[in-house]
Amino acid sequence: MPALTPHLEAQMVARLTAKDFPAWADTAAKVGHCAHPVRLHGTSTTIDAATGEVLSTYSSADEPLGVLHVRCGNRRESACPSCSRVYAADTFHLIRAGVIGGKGVPEDVADNPLVFATLTAPTFGLVHGRRNGRKCRAFTPKGIPGICEHGRPTVCHAVHDDQDRLLGQPLCPDCYDYTGHVIWQWWAPELWRRFTITTRRHLAKALGVPQSRLPNVVTLQYAKVAEYQHRGLIHFHALIRLDGPKTDTGFAPAPGGATAALLTRVVEDAAAAVRFDAPRLDEDDRVRRLRFGTQLDARPIATRRRTDDPDRELVPEQVAGYLAKYATKSASDTLDADNPHWQRLRHAIDDATERTDADLHRRRIPRLEHPYGLLGKWRHMLGFRGHFSTKSRRYSVTLGQLRRARARFQRRLAHAHRDGTPLDVGDLNDLLRDDADETTLVVGQWVYAGSGWDTDGDAELAKAAAARAREYAAWRAEKKHHNR
Ligand SMILES: [Zn+2]
Ligand SMILES: [Zn+2]
Ligand SMILES: [Zn+2]
Repeated sequence: MPALTPHLEAQMVARLTAKDFPAWADTAAKVGHCAHPVRLHGTSTTIDAATGEVLSTYSSADEPLGVLHVRCGNRRESACPSCSRVYAADTFHLIRAGVIGGKGVPEDVADNPLVFATLTAPTFGLVHGRRNGRKCRAFTPKGIPGICEHGRPTVCHAVHDDQDRLLGQPLCPDCYDYTGHVIWQWWAPELWRRFTITTRRHLAKALGVPQSRLPNVVTLQYAKVAEYQHRGLIHFHALIRLDGPKTDTGFAPAPGGATAALLTRVVEDAAAAVRFDAPRLDEDDRVRRLRFGTQLDARPIATRRRTDDPDRELVPEQVAGYLAKYATKSASDTLDADNPHWQRLRHAIDDATERTDADLHRRRIPRLEHPYGLLGKWRHMLGFRGHFSTKSRRYSVTLGQLRRARARFQRRLAHAHRDGTPLDVGDLNDLLRDDADETTLVVGQWVYAGSGWDTDGDAELAKAAAARAREYAAWRAEKKHHNR
């Protein structure tokens, strides 16, 4: 929380002592203390699809504050702690379901080989790093101590803690290949795409089937997230699962011989083999051959039924939690995002954009036809244009399904409140079944009335309440854990 200015404090006191504080608190609680809720005016009517009978009507005018507040739904923790937690929880559940089943995903999915892989970026120059408390030594590939041509040392003997502002900073910014860095980041999604193709090719070879026949034997499912490192490059963390051939219901068991050990080897080989020759920025530029970094990690994941390699096993909850956490971070959320290195990266993007613009002009081609035509639009992401978390279609449930299930649950909860009846939560899987069998229509007319709370003081109060709710949940979980 930022230091409270007198102005902010006055706003908070005004809210806390206002006559309508209970109405405000009620509203804030309903949106889970979202920091920037969307305000809507309007009505909606629920109609029985078969008979046309009006089952209920709802008007925002009936809300305590006379307007409907809806969660902002922002993925990023820095934007809205509350909504980002919902997003992280949903991501956690969908990733977990793909590992051990549940949420409508059959438990048999846990029999199929599963690997957790981290694909890194290569080095573009020596940076200060942290190697489990050992000396920095700055990712030095050959470790030759000395002085660079700019008169700066090429080795660092410091031990950096994880709050150190030097982390990720180049030992010599003038030696660092900023253009190469930006170009790699721009093509990272293409490297990932090639990785999935290469993995399938290696898989066909390992299983001794022609590539064209591979889908009849196995299919590859994955969930991945991108994570920024201090040096401003992204890593991909991915869960990669080997299923049997494609079926209507999905999740066919993997055939014998398709083990986690085999998948691990295939993933490692494929990641090391991926290459992409990046197009040039302009005619003065050179072609760069892009690949993933050599720090590649792939290991099987243990479940109840998987016992491939006990030494390298990961627990599904760990992995799902790990991926969910990274899904709520973005470039600006990383420690000290305004550091000199990241500023230089943005300059490098500006330079590349300038060259691209000149090239466009010279060749008289439209912006979209230039491979770097849109780079400038992704400056705030340090040139990464991919999605932060993606999954293949049949990996598990979707975020949409989880959201719709929650909306259905809240609707039932509201009905139960209104009618004074106890809520039959029933089977969550029932709620997760998609809308196909819904028999009611909701017809509404809504007008956007703005977003955010009335004052910054209100927003701070909501955030503080969200933080308290989180502490309370952690305390309860801890207590439950001790009582076991
Ligand atoms: Zn929110
Ligand atoms: Zn260092
Ligand atoms: Zn230098």
